[in-house]
Amino acid sequence: MSEAAAGHAQPLIIVVSGPGGVGKGTVVDALIARDPQLWLSRSWTTRAQRRGEPDEAYTFTDRATFEEHIAAGGFLEWTEFLGSYYGTPIPAPEAGADVVLEIEVDGARQVKAVRPEALLIFVLPPTREEQERRLRHRGDAPDRVVARLRKAEDEEPIGRQLADHIVVNDDVEATVEEMLALIERARSRRSAGSGEPDDPSSTATQSRD
Ligand code: 5GP
Repeated sequence: MSEAAAGHAQPLIIVVSGPGGVGKGTVVDALIARDPQLWLSRSWTTRAQRRGEPDEAYTFTDRATFEEHIAAGGFLEWTEFLGSYYGTPIPAPEAGADVVLEIEVDGARQVKAVRPEALLIFVLPPTREEQERRLRHRGDAPDRVVARLRKAEDEEPIGRQLADHIVVNDDVEATVEEMLALIERARSRRSAGSGEPDDPSSTATQSRD
């Protein structure tokens, strides 16, 4: 009997990526709150915990421990982003759950390389100004803000190319609704036996700005 027929289909991997300051975290939190079948992966990072950042935002670790975990094959993907390591541990969701990763574009590319059936949703900001405003209010030092803004500019064209779907986050509620619909479609395709994401021509919501 196939895994799917036995009711243990491989979890769908939903990659939510996008340049810094697009509001990925807010959107992902809302997705998880809305769909109990979604399981959020907790990344590892060597970056310092920000003031006010919850302990469970990441598994905060040091470079030596992170590198040991790389060597042990413990990551689905990992990258170095602005001088810190970030990585997704091999996912271990509850049975029947689908996996959500909130990661930057290099990690998204790696996941697509090993799991081409993963659903990659790339989130864009409604406007540059809003993106900048969000990046500036994160509690990073000013030089880090500048570095993050530059990095975000580099990430956008790469993500646009990689994505199965592009969503413009001008309204969190509308963005979440659209993403839940995309996830449902991917689940239906999986049940129907075709794991591949849609035609790569992306669907983009229109910014209302
Ligand atoms: P931040 O320092 O703002 O929390 O995260 C910086 C960037 O790293 C964000 O774009 C975030 O989505 C991404 N990121 C977080 N966790 C991971 C991960 O496990 N792997 C990769 N590749 N990127 C991650």
